[in-house]
Amino acid sequence: MNGPELLDSRAARVGGTPVVRLLPKRAHRTVGPWCFADHFGPVDVADGAMAVGPHPHIGLQTVTWLFEGEVLHTDSLGSEQLIRPGQLNLMSAGRGIAHAEESPAGAAGAMHGLQLWVAQPDATRWAEPEFQHLSELPVVEVDDATATVLVGRLDGARSSARADWPMIGADVVVRSTTELPLDPTFEHAVLVTSGAPTIDGSTVPLGTTAYLPPGRSSVTMTGPARVVVVGGEPFESTIAMSWNFVARTSDEIDAAYADWTAAGPRFGEVRSDLARIAAPGH
Ligand code: MN
Repeated sequence: MNGPELLDSRAARVGGTPVVRLLPKRAHRTVGPWCFADHFGPVDVADGAMAVGPHPHIGLQTVTWLFEGEVLHTDSLGSEQLIRPGQLNLMSAGRGIAHAEESPAGAAGAMHGLQLWVAQPDATRWAEPEFQHLSELPVVEVDDATATVLVGRLDGARSSARADWPMIGADVVVRSTTELPLDPTFEHAVLVTSGAPTIDGSTVPLGTTAYLPPGRSSVTMTGPARVVVVGGEPFESTIAMSWNFVARTSDEIDAAYADWTAAGPRFGEVRSDLARIAAPGH
């Protein structure tokens, strides 16, 4: 069997927090609808609390998934939601939303997680924004692994998270050799969040991502490791991505920058003590 295509990552910073940017890659701007993946931590909040002030999004869903720690989400819909490991925050930006994310007051210990974005299809990308919090998610045992289904369906278990496009997102703790079923109509990326698993015969170190093209009905992984598998049907179109915006044309991107700078009604107000983040030059 051919091994997976291995994708490297790069260091980046978000609101002062160092992150490892796993997606996008030049060769894979999207994997299914997934268009962005940052891995942050593990870091002691005493050394780097999260403090990302109000900022806008359009045309994407933000998926926040924690391995350790807590994050407080506030947004322009009036949502105020603390998220803990095992829970999912899913924010659908549609035509526009603003939010802030920060370590809650008094937070201590480690913070570790993923921030993922899902491109919205034409059918929903101009819709009203929505915020969803799932306090519990389906968990399934597959061979010698435990999988939590964030979005989509795995091995008969289905997440109730909103999905605008056929897709999967699953956190998989791999203890020993496990054959994880895949939808052969999907392409997938296996994001390594701890350990250095063997994936279809290739060792995949932390910070490296294994890309699997469509046509695969399973992937074989050997741990101990923890991975997040994301994927979906190849997306309907190429996307334009700039700063926090996902669109199709530069005119749509320019309008989003202008609307955020104008502080008009499109993105609304976020109740947060953190400073509003100014749009960078573009
Ligand atoms: Mn954001």
